[in-house]
Amino acid sequence: MNVYAAPVRDLRFVLEELLAHRSLSLPGFEEATPDLVEAVLEEAAKLASDVWGPLNATGDRQGAKRHTDGSVNTPEGFAAAYQAYVEGGWNGIGVSEALGGQNLPEVLASAVQEMLHGANMALGLCPMLTAGAIEALAHHGSDALKATYLPKLVEGTWTGTMNLTESQAGSDLSQVRTRAVPENDHYRISGQKIYITWGEHDAAENIIHLVLARKPDAPEGNKGISLFLVPKFLVNEDGSLGERNDVTCASIEHKLGIHGSPTCTLSFGENGGAIGYLVGEEGRGLNHMFTMMNEARHKVGIQGIGVAERACQHAFAYALERRQGRAPKARGGAECSISDHLDVRRMLLSMRSRTDALRALALYCAAELDTARHAENDDTRRAAQARADILIPVVKSFSTDQAVDIASIGIQVHGGMGYVEETGAAQLLRDARIAPIYEGTNGIQALDLAGRKLQRDNGEALTALLHDVAATAEQLTANPALAALGSGLAAGLADLKAAQTLVLEQGLDPEKGADAVQAYATPFLTLAGHVLCAWQMGEAALKAHAAIQGGSDDPFYTAKMRSAEFAITQWLPVGRAQRAVIEAGMECLSEFEVY
Ligand SMILES: Cc1cc2nc3c(=O)[nH]c(=O)nc-3n(C[C@H](O)[C@H](O)[C@H](O)COP(=O)(O)OP(=O)(O)OC[C@H]3O[C@@H](n4cnc5c(N)ncnc54)[C@H](O)[C@@H]3O)c2cc1C
Repeated sequence: MNVYAAPVRDLRFVLEELLAHRSLSLPGFEEATPDLVEAVLEEAAKLASDVWGPLNATGDRQGAKRHTDGSVNTPEGFAAAYQAYVEGGWNGIGVSEALGGQNLPEVLASAVQEMLHGANMALGLCPMLTAGAIEALAHHGSDALKATYLPKLVEGTWTGTMNLTESQAGSDLSQVRTRAVPENDHYRISGQKIYITWGEHDAAENIIHLVLARKPDAPEGNKGISLFLVPKFLVNEDGSLGERNDVTCASIEHKLGIHGSPTCTLSFGENGGAIGYLVGEEGRGLNHMFTMMNEARHKVGIQGIGVAERACQHAFAYALERRQGRAPKARGGAECSISDHLDVRRMLLSMRSRTDALRALALYCAAELDTARHAENDDTRRAAQARADILIPVVKSFSTDQAVDIASIGIQVHGGMGYVEETGAAQLLRDARIAPIYEGTNGIQALDLAGRKLQRDNGEALTALLHDVAATAEQLTANPALAALGSGLAAGLADLKAAQTLVLEQGLDPEKGADAVQAYATPFLTLAGHVLCAWQMGEAALKAHAAIQGGSDDPFYTAKMRSAEFAITQWLPVGRAQRAVIEAGMECLSEFEVY
């Protein structure tokens, strides 16, 4: 069984308000009419469901193949599916018009990305990496580099990669050793990068590598690192493709999942040095990379949500079809499908409710990014960026950790059929498992939130966000039908505030400082994720309740009510336990000797 139907209605439920009251009222989006938005959703859904989705299992089975000459073939159908994406103009939907894109809000672009990742995460990685390269080049590239490379990258006829990791430089990029030796108007790059996603492939005519490297006389550490653009094929003055550059794919990894995505070891400079061009300023390569990493992290969160959605769809379809046991006596006691058993319903609703909540939070964050880029007023832009900065590590980590869990529950719903490969449920768990690791591990995200982001403004941006959570809790509490949800959310909020105070106190303590943040970071991020997701589900409850009160008997709204109730009454309490974890102290971690 291999099901994927792009969840257009669920997305629309979240998007409606974010588009109408937030992103579309910003300057610059005047052309994004409701009709256009609707057409984008419908057409993206067709591409995802009809073209990319059916290739997901093929990609997993066949994987990418490297030949002895270093060339790499992607699985059958991937190159054509990528071409269909390029021809549809999808690569530039969230990119500004000035750069040749379609200038649609990030909220809408994120919804499209979710559909494509749900359909085929391995293929979705190719444009995701290109988006990172576009971002880095647009912000930091010279006019000449932008003119030569951006149009093709925005079209998608050339793809991009991000080359950070080396065997000794993973989370700690200060260890980067790849060399860049100045020569005329360019540099000669040599060294080896590992784990480079879509580093070599047959789906586009050129590949533009963005590479972290250091000059021979550069200082040690972060400050010596610069960013370079290294094309697979050099580009002639007239824009045509020239000679092959000195970069080759030395091998591809055999991985747990995302088999259709070629993860390459790239060798630069085995024949004299690959020609590379400096992007931005010398010595500021890491800063330049981080400009785009923030948004790339949001995209990885979205990727997790796409896979979680697909896991839900598989599990729901299987649970309705598989017949085992008898229904509860109250419902007649007849032979039944497993979806009649309350324990199976618990799993299904848990999967659905979490996916709904993660989606709502990630799209809310995308609306903040739209505001941060487009609002007229400087203060509004700054406040939105500060809020997005807080939300992004949560969206990245919490969504991807939850996606792994959701995919695992999906297997459980299938029983033994989940553990064997035919149903596709196992692939989803294998695919999802990378998302908590790359683009900054989830542990590093938690440190970013509880350390840098929280401490730099003494918790101000998070406190402002929590005011909005409190307002939703009050609104729920004021409505007798929703009051229990209001008090549940308020209790979660109180836990998060208490944890914030503790983490701030300890983090700013000159003695405990960084160690305390290390110890508390992950429980803190987990608690924040639960509370912020519950907040979004409180908002969903208000909306669904209003529709039902307005006379709608559409089962969609009833399902959204159940989903919101589950999130606040059954799932939030699990997250609230993290407050006790933080309050218990973490001495056991520092006192534990690893043996
Ligand atoms: C399939 C795949 C695709 C990838 N794609 C790309 C790509 O396109 N481009 C690219 O450049 N890289 C890519 N990567 C690399 C990826 O980003 C790294 O694997 C990741 O950043 C972690 O680095 P590492 O593997 O060296 O782990 P390590 O840094 O060794 O981390 C191991 C563990 O230690 C923890 N840890 C490390 N340092 C700290 C610290 N200071 N404090 C607390 N905990 C710490 C980590 O959280 C982790 O749990 C990819 C990796 C894979 C597997």
